[in-house]
Amino acid sequence: MIQTLLDLIYPPKCALCGDLTHPGLCPACRATFTPAPNPLPTKPPLTSITAPFLYNDLAAEAVKKLKFDRRTPLAEPLSQILHKAAQSIPHDLVIPVPVARTRRSERGFNQSELLAQAFPKTSVHPHLLRRTRYTKPQVGLNAKQRHENLKDAFLAPEPLPNQRILLLDDVITTGGTAFACAQELIRQGASEVHLLTFAIQLGN
Ligand SMILES: [Zn+2]
Repeated sequence: MIQTLLDLIYPPKCALCGDLTHPGLCPACRATFTPAPNPLPTKPPLTSITAPFLYNDLAAEAVKKLKFDRRTPLAEPLSQILHKAAQSIPHDLVIPVPVARTRRSERGFNQSELLAQAFPKTSVHPHLLRRTRYTKPQVGLNAKQRHENLKDAFLAPEPLPNQRILLLDDVITTGGTAFACAQELIRQGASEVHLLTFAIQLGN
C-alpha cells in the first residue's frame, strides 16, 4: 500500500535518465557503458580482476548514485550484471569489500553489499572481512602513504582454508584496497581471491 503510494508520488524510472518505461536502468543508458578490456592485468595476491565496464560517463554516474542512495533502483540491475559476470569466475564464497564502520553509520549501508543482492544469499558472507579502522581515499597519496594508509586496515576473523573468494566492489581505482583485502584473506588460508567490480578506472 505504502509502496503503491510512493510509486504514485515517485514513479519508478531509470535512475540515470528518468525514462518512466524502464524502472532501474534503461537499455539506452546501459548501452552507453563502455566495456572494459577483460581480462584485466593483475598481480598477487589477487588471482584475477574483472570489471564489466570502464569508470566513465554514465557508468561512473551509476557508481556515484549507488554510493549515496541506498534505495536506488540501480542496485538490482547492477548487481545482476555482476552476478552474470561471476558465472565465469571460480569461487566458493562472495565477500563484499567492507566500508569503515564510521562511514557505514553515516550512510547506513555498504554499497558493495548492495551489489551482492542478486547473488544467492547463502554464498554472500560480509562478516568474513571487516575494516579495523578508517582509511583515507588512496587517490592523491604517494606509494609510502598508500602503504601506511592500508596497513592492517582489514581483518578476516575466521580461517578460510582453500577457499576461493570472490571479492565484490563497486569500482577499482588504484587497486590498493582490493590488494590489502586479498592479502588478509590469503593470510587466513584462502587459495584464490578474484576481484569483481562494476567498473574500473584505468590510468592510475
Ligand atoms: Zn536511462
